Amino acid sequence: MARYTGPVCRRCRHLGEKLMLKGEKCTTPKCPLEKRNAPPGGRSMRRRRRVSDRGLQLREKQKIRFSYGVLERQFRRFFAKAGKAPGITGESLLILLERRLDNVVYRLGFADSRPQARQIVRHGHIIVNGRKTDIPSYLVKLGEVISWKKASIETEYYKTVVEKIKGKVIPGWLSLDEEKMLGSVLALPGKDDIDTKFDSKAVVEYYSR
Ligand code: SF4
Repeated sequence: MARYTGPVCRRCRHLGEKLMLKGEKCTTPKCPLEKRNAPPGGRSMRRRRRVSDRGLQLREKQKIRFSYGVLERQFRRFFAKAGKAPGITGESLLILLERRLDNVVYRLGFADSRPQARQIVRHGHIIVNGRKTDIPSYLVKLGEVISWKKASIETEYYKTVVEKIKGKVIPGWLSLDEEKMLGSVLALPGKDDIDTKFDSKAVVEYYSR
């Protein structure tokens, strides 16, 4: 299945929720959801119908999938892996998604959104434990250090990130040396570190059918 390349705001409009995929724009009045909360499509498409339980479960699954920028097939793989992990499957799924390198780059404040973080990783700007790592789905491990490629430090983008990074809130399982722009994995994320806006139980119910 090909990666979605259409307008990302359409994802939010479709679900009627802010998924924060456009960085700074998401917190300004320019966000289309601030202007009007209507699903994409013509007038006939705009009537919101009553949603079934199955529809609500699908919606929660899509919300998580779109937020982390994961394709359906890959998402299913994460779900299967979460099912084998000890503990509650839904929580394990979100914990695994949190460990994705593109998410970590976003959480460290190296990017304003996950799609942007994904691009930075894909373009080879990120180093993990001294090795170039350009796989967004790479799962970070305890004690790993995330930094920038030497050549990337010269880019305008990097300079902007350095200017904006001060005062950014970093989750407790990560740490950031702002001077050196080095991120470290202090602990693997736990259930207290997962986003409460996601209903992972609904995802488990969706796949249990
Ligand atoms: Fe979603 Fe951000 Fe676009 Fe608003 S600006 S619709 S929150 S991606």
